[in-house]
Amino acid sequence: MKLTTDKIIVSGPCSAESRDQLLTTAEQLAAVGVTVFRAGLWKPRTRPGCFEGVGADGIEWMTEVRTRYGMRIATELNSVRNTELLLKAGVDIAWIGARTATNPFDVQDIADALRGCHIDVYVKNPVAPDSALWLGALERLERANIKGRIVAIHRGFCAWEKDIFRNNPIWSIPLWLKAQRPDLPVVCDPSHIAGQAKLVPHVARMALALGLDGLFVESHCNPSAALSDAAQQLTPEEFGQMMQDLKLTL
Ligand code: PEP
Ligand code: MN
Repeated sequence: MKLTTDKIIVSGPCSAESRDQLLTTAEQLAAVGVTVFRAGLWKPRTRPGCFEGVGADGIEWMTEVRTRYGMRIATELNSVRNTELLLKAGVDIAWIGARTATNPFDVQDIADALRGCHIDVYVKNPVAPDSALWLGALERLERANIKGRIVAIHRGFCAWEKDIFRNNPIWSIPLWLKAQRPDLPVVCDPSHIAGQAKLVPHVARMALALGLDGLFVESHCNPSAALSDAAQQLTPEEFGQMMQDLKLTL
């Protein structure tokens, strides 16, 4: 399968868990046309005692994915120290997570550490529906003279009362951002909005219908065994089927 779209398409597991899990998932995603591979190395867990990620040990597995399958590699950074490690390792894309994006001090420190770099930087919406805080994080990165592309990710907002979704989409916020900044791509992370695999294609379709610029989706070679976000990850085959249904691959 091959991508037939100019939308931004990123997929990969929530977390890097082992070399084998990463390479197997990447191989299967490459076969359905994925060219940008995501995996979290340091996991921002809401409560302690869960899987916190493999950390820097996973960097070489990620670079192996790039060498073997020719994919660009993306991971989350959340501190100056991680940023320095990832820049040294030469990742192609780094994203700032929803929890980090809430704190302008952290975002500014990371922006300073990224100053002048050539990688693409994606910024998730903060966990609370504060559109100016999201735009502010994006602006801090823009002011750091980053040579790669800056991209916003809508991943939904924490809600006290859970509806059907894990994180409620508030579509007017990414649309407001696009109206403010038509030059800035805004993609959707349907996985963290949906919270369950069966709703992911539905959320992805809504995002595309609203004119968002791409999809950032969690896929795992064996979702039920995943160490984080097991319920919401698609298999690479399910991901490939969704892409065909959305007419984004041939
Ligand atoms: C993730 O992408 O795995 C993640 C932790 O996302 P968020 O920051 O949106 O919760
Ligand atoms: Mn996740």
